[in-house]
Amino acid sequence: MIDTHCHLDVERFDGDREAVLERAWAAGVEAIVVPAIGPDAWEPLLEWPAREPRVQVGLGIHPQLVPSLNPADDERHLARLDALLADPRAIAVGECGLDAASGQLERQARILKAHFALARKHHKPLLVHVLRAHPQFRALIEEEPMPEAGLLMHSYSGSAELTPRYVKYGCHFSFAGPVTFAEARRPLDALKSVPLGRLMVETDAPDQAPHPHRGGRSEPALLPLIVEAMSKVRSEEVGPHVTANARAFFRLPARP
Ligand SMILES: [Zn+2]
Repeated sequence: MIDTHCHLDVERFDGDREAVLERAWAAGVEAIVVPAIGPDAWEPLLEWPAREPRVQVGLGIHPQLVPSLNPADDERHLARLDALLADPRAIAVGECGLDAASGQLERQARILKAHFALARKHHKPLLVHVLRAHPQFRALIEEEPMPEAGLLMHSYSGSAELTPRYVKYGCHFSFAGPVTFAEARRPLDALKSVPLGRLMVETDAPDQAPHPHRGGRSEPALLPLIVEAMSKVRSEEVGPHVTANARAFFRLPARP
């Protein structure tokens, strides 16, 4: 199994990061993709794959972080991101996206468009967060050419009705802990609407812990709970498919 979205670099793992990794490998996780939240994370993240090749990293600016960054620094950050993305140790562009609850949505969109351009330039896949901003995101992808390496809608929050539009644009979709919640109608309907070849799984740790750990800190070792719930909801074994999809999307080497 591959955890396609996990914030293993955040402070909440500072006390026991090595133990968290050991539990992940013991649980059958083969690789973990850590998308950066912001500029301070980029350089430290690039060092990680050399220490532990099963941890791979993406570089970007999280939409929830945008309002806390000085707008005067946007161009400087994006120029540095461009330079760092030339490094083969960065396998993806992100996290980036649109989050209506965080404010400054127009600035978020400008920065997201710059991430699209960088993904096309560096031939790397784009890791996108869209929350309460699907109309704006749809408008954006109608004018912005898709990166040929692909786009992953992480912790997909769109409706089942919306899925075919995103499928048409070539998007992939990953799901996290909420698919294990019995009352979660919307993510379960969305999960059923995604073609098997476009499906992936993630923990989004430390957030969105699956049942029965809901409300606590999530970690990659809980990934099997999410895969099991996905298989149950779809009445088919998704495990081998989500792993193969993630391996192809992130161009990860085959398991030794
Ligand atoms: Zn994230």
